[in-house]
Amino acid sequence: MSTPALKIYNTLTRTKEEFRPIDPAHVRMYVCGPTVYDYAHIGNARPLIVFDVLFRLLRHLYGVEHVTYVRNITDVDDKINARAAERGISIRELTDETNKVFQQDVKALGCLEPTVQPRATEHIGQMITIIERLIASGHAYAADGHVLFDVPSMQNYGRLSRRSLDEMLAGARVDVAPYKRGDMDFVLWKPSKENEPGWDSPWGRGRPGWHIECSAMSWAHLGETFDIHGGGIDLVFPHHENEIAQSCCAFGREVMANYWMHNGFLQVEGEKMSKSLGNFVTIHELLHTEKFGGRKWPGEVLRLAMLRTHYRQPIDWTVKALEEAETSLRRWSEFISAGAASGDSGNFLHAFEGALADDLNTPLAMKLLHSVYDPSQLDKALNLVGIDVRRYARWIENEKSKSVDASSIGALISARLTARALKNWAESDRIRDELAAMGIVLKDNKDGTTTWEVKR
Ligand SMILES: [Zn+2]
Repeated sequence: MSTPALKIYNTLTRTKEEFRPIDPAHVRMYVCGPTVYDYAHIGNARPLIVFDVLFRLLRHLYGVEHVTYVRNITDVDDKINARAAERGISIRELTDETNKVFQQDVKALGCLEPTVQPRATEHIGQMITIIERLIASGHAYAADGHVLFDVPSMQNYGRLSRRSLDEMLAGARVDVAPYKRGDMDFVLWKPSKENEPGWDSPWGRGRPGWHIECSAMSWAHLGETFDIHGGGIDLVFPHHENEIAQSCCAFGREVMANYWMHNGFLQVEGEKMSKSLGNFVTIHELLHTEKFGGRKWPGEVLRLAMLRTHYRQPIDWTVKALEEAETSLRRWSEFISAGAASGDSGNFLHAFEGALADDLNTPLAMKLLHSVYDPSQLDKALNLVGIDVRRYARWIENEKSKSVDASSIGALISARLTARALKNWAESDRIRDELAAMGIVLKDNKDGTTTWEVKR
């Protein structure tokens, strides 16, 4: 049975459209990546997971070799400068350290590595080229060491966000500056002070604005026009609107990307996540600390919890939702490891793929997983959405062994030492075996003491 056609909700047209790649032999997707100055929060995890599912589905539909997924790393930004100064470390140290944790986090969430993860600082040349083209074609102007995009020069500016000029002015939090011709004009290049990172350019030593980075990196790795551009709904305006303005005007194209996809907002226990409300939680904290719900959560649970809500809907991130996801995951994991079919699953996989192909209807797909009676089909389906039940089972085992009660181990060790002192070797060996069954390895030291460690 053939796979159903992929349909995608396109923010540009506000309709669900059949996906037709420019070149089916080379499907191209760009997603805005992190600004690496701090740990990624759970809201940041949403696009990572959503577009990873789409990446997997595209690979499934068009072939692994025929899909290029670019997710950038923004490693030049005023927030980065400020944080590095605050911590007294270099910008490179801060961005390398943050990026390392970010890569570990996304791996734990079960995301594949994108085909390319370009760094903004490695694409300054392309940014300068685009800015020069914009100036040459009358869409940008240099003033006071700055270069600004001339918004009124673009006839259909605002096409993606469909906002009125007043709304755009309110949303852009416009800086009033003497070198700006129009309120809406935005920065392509700005001058750097001596202590700020900077690159030589035709407009003096300076650094890029944020929006130009994505135009340059998508151009470098995907070309002037490509298939899918993704990101969070908060990026529609001004970031994506400005990316479109830059790329379309620099390359003389009608579109930058044919399909624009945006995931919805995330809130925590019914409230907007914010540091001041104390409900701010990072991916790293969920995975490695007891901050959320008093326990650590494996990446598979976080991923499943995310997929149980449709990507365009707002999601409420709650302890209850994570517990529900874990209950399902545990059941599936046991079913797969038992390995015996318990009934007829019919056209399950076809229906499952059909749900995913329908604008990533993951809540329906996850629901279908409850009516599959063949472990190998369940395994295939979970694989397709990047949920690894074996890795989940290993995580559970590992946590169990770590939580073995240290005091009961201590009591058994001292009982064994007593048995040895009484030359009761049978009892000593029995206790050693009992501990071994708990995954505890004993080491008798020369000084008569015994130490232990958890077997890996
Ligand atoms: Zn971007």
